[in-house]
Amino acid sequence: MGEWSIEEQMSDPEHKEPFKYYTKEADPFYSTDRWRHLRTAALNRSGYMCKYCARIGIRKPADTVHHIYPRKTYPQYQWCLWNLYPVCRACHNKLEDRTNGELTDEGVALMRRLERRRAVGLE
Ligand SMILES: [Zn+2]
Repeated sequence: MGEWSIEEQMSDPEHKEPFKYYTKEADPFYSTDRWRHLRTAALNRSGYMCKYCARIGIRKPADTVHHIYPRKTYPQYQWCLWNLYPVCRACHNKLEDRTNGELTDEGVALMRRLERRRAVGLE
């Protein structure tokens, strides 16, 4: 899960109908200091670059932090730095279905990869 807000969507010219999309603006999680600090730590760790683009050698700024294991299903991992994945908006849309906040097939595949890395102690 990322941290879309109404403000971000409204300022994004690609999204002309912001309110029809799934939003998390009502979720107090994303306005806590603890989240803001963690989000910054995650972005710092990737040099503010999209990690999903980096996998195919593209350098693009990250503006969203994705929860690889979704908060809704895995609240126990919501504060874990290893579960956070800085991405650009285009990649976030590939990982999460904007209409319902659920993981896409690519999002599930990324979670499975992290699962394997954790199983062998890489994360
Ligand atoms: Zn990207």
